[in-house]
Amino acid sequence: MAKDIDQQILNDLRQFDFVAQNIWPRLRGLFKRTIAARCNQCVISSRVPYITLTDGVCNLCHEHNKLRANDEETVWQKKYVEHQRKELDHLLKSHQGKGRDRYDALVLFSGGKDSVYMLSRLRKEHPGLRVLLMTWDNGFYSKLSLDRCKEVAAKMDLDHIVYKPRSSVYKTLYCYTLKNVEMKGSYQTVDRLDGTLNQMLGFYFAYDMNIPLVLAGVDFAQELIMQFHSYYVMPFEDMCSRTLTDRMERRSGFKIADIFTEEDQKLFWDGTGKDPDRIPQYVLPFVAWRPDKAAILGELERESLMPERDSSPILTNNQVLSIMTAIDIKTIGYCSFEPEFAEMIRFRENDPVYWRNAFEMAEFGARNKVFLQRTVSKVLGKLGLTFQEVGLEA
Ligand SMILES: [Zn+2]
Repeated sequence: MAKDIDQQILNDLRQFDFVAQNIWPRLRGLFKRTIAARCNQCVISSRVPYITLTDGVCNLCHEHNKLRANDEETVWQKKYVEHQRKELDHLLKSHQGKGRDRYDALVLFSGGKDSVYMLSRLRKEHPGLRVLLMTWDNGFYSKLSLDRCKEVAAKMDLDHIVYKPRSSVYKTLYCYTLKNVEMKGSYQTVDRLDGTLNQMLGFYFAYDMNIPLVLAGVDFAQELIMQFHSYYVMPFEDMCSRTLTDRMERRSGFKIADIFTEEDQKLFWDGTGKDPDRIPQYVLPFVAWRPDKAAILGELERESLMPERDSSPILTNNQVLSIMTAIDIKTIGYCSFEPEFAEMIRFRENDPVYWRNAFEMAEFGARNKVFLQRTVSKVLGKLGLTFQEVGLEA
């Protein structure tokens, strides 16, 4: 039964993806006046409070273009990234075969294009790194991604663990946070808690299994926006304390003590009092690599790891994203994921036309209860929630 629902949700999202690419471009002119104006360059919505459009281009793109045009600035940035690349390369090389136990690195493996690309590149550039792949199946993961994880792990002949936390943990997380998004947007609230918990399950796993590195395929735009750090390794002091959980609580406005049982609160990382020699280093290779979309898709195609038609985050990401988008449009007027995607478009990591269509459709659909509405209804059903409970209309 549950499987059927997941397949149906995937079918709905495939339809959305098809319409975004083939039909919406021909229809959008008709609805122009009812949807927000968008930046011609990065497609960010003019409803984002700090965005102003001048000559059809947003203030962030104007700033970005000025920086790009300034040679000195570009040279400095290139040097910085080049330096990070060398350091990362050295770090990974020095860990090959050196882990205290069976593995050198735990790869957080979601089955999206970024995580598959990261793994493929790691295998080529650091074949001696003994990796364990970890996928968390929280009950709301894309069926497509879960299948992809298993396929890729088998194809590369790597050890792979699918970790399925008890279903109450993520249900509790989504039910509480979806009801309390308010004006903060779901990106900083629902998604922040969700993403952070995923990472932290990885930290505990690595700590328990004595694995020195945890690698995640988080795009660098997300890192810049979250201002975690603009470096590829999480500061060691942060890993040795409760800093990461504290930061997540401050950013989201939620306290985990208000949401979870005492036992479940222990899932959120607190490095205090832990053996510092066993605390893993959290590494984000994309911050140093900065691959553009063409490089990622090229690699996946060359290695026959993922067909391009399966690579859109709309298909590979968490099912709950559909509800988050609907809540965002209703409360703040734009999808709170847009700033991250716009930043990636500025750095050519994303395709502006596809995302303009997708964000316009999401906005139009949420107002008129079409396109994503069926998916929202099914995912709410899985969570045992009603439209009204999360502030939406059926
Ligand atoms: Zn822009």
